[in-house]
Parts: sequence; structure tokens; C-alpha cells
Amino acid sequence: MIDVSGTSQDFSQPLPRSQQIAQRLEQLQLPDHVRLVAVSKTFPSDVIRAAYAAGLRDFGENKIQEAIAKQAELKDLPDITWHFIGHLQSNKARKALQHFDWIHSVDSLKLARRLDQIAAELGRSPICCLQVKLLSDPNKHGWTESDLKQVLPDLAQLSHLKLEGIMAIPPYGLLMTETQSFFERAYALGQSMANHQETPLPIRHFSMGMSQDFPLAIAAGANIIRLGTTLFGSRN
Ligand SMILES: *Cc1c(COP(=O)(O)O)cnc(C)c1O
Repeated sequence: MIDVSGTSQDFSQPLPRSQQIAQRLEQLQLPDHVRLVAVSKTFPSDVIRAAYAAGLRDFGENKIQEAIAKQAELKDLPDITWHFIGHLQSNKARKALQHFDWIHSVDSLKLARRLDQIAAELGRSPICCLQVKLLSDPNKHGWTESDLKQVLPDLAQLSHLKLEGIMAIPPYGLLMTETQSFFERAYALGQSMANHQETPLPIRHFSMGMSQDFPLAIAAGANIIRLGTTLFGSRN
């Protein structure tokens, strides 16, 4: 028997995961002003590790417990920024603040107030996005345009949160042109909040665009996109 360990390379093997992710990243050719959040939900921590090796530092998760378990396994990677992107119940606000730097899915005044109160207690000041729902969508949470304008003065008083972003997900099944105008409306809504006469919010992050639609989102002004499938393949 000839020992070939370490000397042979099997070219039929797929690329190691981190190289695969690095390759996909390169193909994306994202503009410099666009921050990429790698959505690692349902994938184990070694996939996050591979993405980290490929240079990614922002990771998005949508379930608190799942994220905490992975974070524990990745303690040796100190410079990851964790983004919570799922629906957040008020009773999980504390855990979310303890384990995430960003919360993209602030979708009610009750939740916003709870987050603000606990952020004060914990001495944290998370960056938050207001999740908006510009078209009716039974599968999604979020503020309608008019609801959001109504609560603006209340939101402006929450001094412990950095309410600096808008997050929007188009309903499933829109045409490309409809998706485009959906993102444009979300962008315009954020701008109008930033320019509000009495109670402006410093909205400057536009978290919109997923694997299916991120080029349209970027064209409409997105500067944060959240990609899962494009980077990691399909989820089961
Ligand atoms: C799952 C998820 C994504 C990523 O979706 P892909 O289509 O896999 O890119 C982005 N944002 C949110 C809120 C998600 O839940």
C-alpha cells in the first residue's frame, strides 16, 4: 500500500465551503456602500465559520434559541456582528438585546417600548430597523405607512434605541416592476421619516433585498441586503 495522504488531491471533490462562499461573494460584485448580512438561519455553526473564513462578518438569524446555540460555538470569533431578522415577541426582547447588535424587525410600538426599556437597563443601544408592510400580506408583520406615521412621535422618544433603519420584505409573487416600486416606496417612506418636520428619525439604513430580489432593492436605495440562499444554497 502506498501512503498518499497529504500528497494527492481529489479534484472530483467540491471546493471547501469557505472557498465556495468566497467565489459566490465575488460573483455578486456588490457596490461598496452595500452591507451584506449573511442569513445563516437553519445552517450549523460550521457554515458560519466557513463564511467567516471567506471574509463575512455580519450574520442574520431569525430564531433566538437557535442563534444563541450557534453563538456559543463561535465564541472564538469575536468580531461578528449579529443581526436579528425574525419576528420578535416582546417576551424575548431581553434575550434579543443580550445576543444581537442589530434588530431589523421592530414591528410594533409595544415591542419598541419594551426594547427601549430593557436596552436602558442593560446599557445597550442596538441599531434598530422599523419593519414596514407596504402591501397587505397575511404572512408578514410590520407597520403600514399610515400606522408608522402615526407612531412617529412616540418612537422619537425612545432614546435608548438607535431607530435608524427601515426593513421591508415584498409579498411573495410580485412582478419585477411591482417589486421595484415596492422598494422605491419603502425608501421614500424612510426618507420622509428622516425629513419629518416635528419628530424626525435619523433613518439611514435601508435593509431590503433577499436572494430573489436584491438587485432591485439596491437599485431602489437599499444599503443592507440579507442573503441566505445565494450564499449557502437552499434551506431544507
Ligand atoms: C430567510 C430570510 C432572508 C434570506 O432569504 P434568502 O431568500 O435565502 O436570501 C432574508 N431576510 C429575512 C427576514 C429572512 O427571514
